Amino acid sequence: MHQKSFTIALAGNPNSGKTTTFNNITGTRQKVGNWPGVTVEKKEGKISKFGYDLTIIDLPGTYSLTPFSIEEIIARNFVLEECPDVVIDIIDSSNLERSLYLATQLREIDCKVIFALNMADLAKSRGIKIDAKKLSELLNVPVIFTIGNKNEGINNLLKEAVKLAKSSSEIPQERKVRYNRDIENSISKVQSLIGLKIAEKLPYNSRWSAIKLLEDDEIVKKRIFEKAGDKAEKILKEALSQRSYLRDRFDDEPEIIMTDERYGFIAGIIKEVHTTSIKERIDISRNIDLVLTNRFIGFPIFFIFIWAMFQITFSFGAYPMEWIDTGVGFLSSTLDGLLPESLFKDLLLNGIIAGVGSVIIFMPNIMILFFCIAIFEDTGYMARAAFLMDKIMHLIGLHGKSFIPMLMGFGCNVPAIIAARTLESEKDRILTILITPFMSCSAKLPIYIVLAGTFFGVRAGSVIFSIYLVGIVLSILTGRLFRSTLLKGADAPFVMELPPYRVPMLKSLLIHMWDRSKMFLKKMGGIILIGSVVVWAFSAFPRNTEYSFDYNGEIEKVKASYETGIKAGNVDNKILEKKKDADIFEITKAQRAEQVEKSYMGRMGKTISPLFSPLGIDWRGGVALLTGFVAKEIVVSTMAVLHAAEEESDALKNALLSSGMTPLSALSMMVFVLLYLPCLATVAAIKRETGSFKWMFFSIAYNTSVAWFAAFFVYQGGKFLGA
Ligand code: GDP
Ligand code: MG
Repeated sequence: MHQKSFTIALAGNPNSGKTTTFNNITGTRQKVGNWPGVTVEKKEGKISKFGYDLTIIDLPGTYSLTPFSIEEIIARNFVLEECPDVVIDIIDSSNLERSLYLATQLREIDCKVIFALNMADLAKSRGIKIDAKKLSELLNVPVIFTIGNKNEGINNLLKEAVKLAKSSSEIPQERKVRYNRDIENSISKVQSLIGLKIAEKLPYNSRWSAIKLLEDDEIVKKRIFEKAGDKAEKILKEALSQRSYLRDRFDDEPEIIMTDERYGFIAGIIKEVHTTSIKERIDISRNIDLVLTNRFIGFPIFFIFIWAMFQITFSFGAYPMEWIDTGVGFLSSTLDGLLPESLFKDLLLNGIIAGVGSVIIFMPNIMILFFCIAIFEDTGYMARAAFLMDKIMHLIGLHGKSFIPMLMGFGCNVPAIIAARTLESEKDRILTILITPFMSCSAKLPIYIVLAGTFFGVRAGSVIFSIYLVGIVLSILTGRLFRSTLLKGADAPFVMELPPYRVPMLKSLLIHMWDRSKMFLKKMGGIILIGSVVVWAFSAFPRNTEYSFDYNGEIEKVKASYETGIKAGNVDNKILEKKKDADIFEITKAQRAEQVEKSYMGRMGKTISPLFSPLGIDWRGGVALLTGFVAKEIVVSTMAVLHAAEEESDALKNALLSSGMTPLSALSMMVFVLLYLPCLATVAAIKRETGSFKWMFFSIAYNTSVAWFAAFFVYQGGKFLGA
């Protein structure tokens, strides 16, 4: 039998729990895409319930029906023009006053609304009591309490929504916001001009259209133009003259006065339905903010947090890292003993295990880093960090909000670049996207750990910290440069959202951490594995190497010379055997080095080495950097493969030390890694989010040239000072 279907949209302020509710309702039956023409995520789910086919839409967060950002325009257009059967307004009950702004506006348009008083647990714990019955009566809207993250009340909410959708009752007209007499007069004048005929063609009612015209709303103005035909001119003219009358009368813009009136209306509702105990007055969040966003100590505290994040990442990460390292070493040597010599064994040991193994050991570091970032996000501290950075960001001509994507960039540039979507202005967004790659992502961390760990010993932590600082400084300089040249313009004004502090739930922290670390694991099984095999193949072929030296003969000689000693039996044979093996190992290593040097990879490296030698980076480093375009983790695995460093633990370290690399050239290479072209996934994200190849290529070219010159100055400058 054919079921009747309803569309239900979830609207509400950002962070009120829309997505949580959406996930609760739809489970896994959701489709994620973009809203047409823009890069804002659209989540849609279809389910069958109570005998109806329900389409649930998760709208972008919005504070009002006055469109400012892309998200707000999308949410508003959907509610107004697509006319879903029911709109569920998800309200953060711990923040009722602010949420009611959108709620009252939803009541002003002709659509069926139901309120979900979400975060009921938070409101309760903060001593807030809401009289839902009264609220429901005052606004003539069904009201349901919900706790999104515990899936409480959601079923009930959906039931009410369906009930409302199928009810044929008229949308109640009373109890809308009443404005003061002058404004009401102006509204009815414009409204009567619009009249019934035109109102029928518009997707919204005439009162609301009149109100919006008085507020000079561009979108409604456009609609009037399209639908009102020859009367459009007259209507718009009347609206303009009413606007100037009101401006004159109140000495302020009409939209501001109307906003004030709405807040007055809301204040009235709050008085009626909202009772608080003393608890809320000593608002905990506000007190914490007195310290954490304090002008003087806020910054030092912020730096301590960031510094602590890196310390924890390195120090706690070191233990599991060692275990995995030992495990990989054990696997490798076991297989070495078990398998007969063959090309396959070479691929397995020197390609796959050396490559993937050298990267997988950093999994713990990366998980810890993501865990810390999740703590910042879930507690609400991230928003404070943005608030603190606001002044500094203004140096670049951006505001603090841009700092959130940048901070996320420390984890991975891809979600960071996507996070830039929250910025209202196009120029701000592009600028933020362009400077985000300078935030050193977690994939680069393994490279620093190897290089700094090898060449800087106990000072490794500080060296890595300064590398991150260099990235930040360069992003600021770049920002300034672009702001005054390519992307001229003032930053858009904005209100910094400071959501209340929340005690993070361990489960949600772990989920956030895992969501992002998963990407790292996926890369391991995918692109890094493939990369390692390709790198190995290029370094293992051609097979018919003409050696400059008779290695096999030398090995025989060594064997023979020990043979006599062992036979004589003067010294403990065990010691001699060990010495023999060590000598032979040295010879095979030299042989392998020559083989790699003469391989395709070696030839490629030799070709590009003139580019890298001024930076103190040898051909192996050069090749490793090239392969890093695919994913930065591959730089380490390429070095491991090229240095044939799989057998002992600490092998890559020893190989690097004996390869002629110096602390200075290691530093130069780290700087280069920090700055040079973003990885494939990031490049694709830049293309997607800026919508243009131009910015993508620009970013590649700019980053790489900055990297080259910076590394050049580090290396040549260091040599000059040292000489
Ligand atoms: P959206 O921006 O409206 O989509 O909000 P989200 O659904 O992403 O929720 C924001 C945060 O609030 C998440 O960390 C949720 O786990 C949390 N959250 C959602 N509903 C509740 C609730 O009823 N109580 C509490 N304490 N937290 C909630
Ligand atoms: Mg959401």
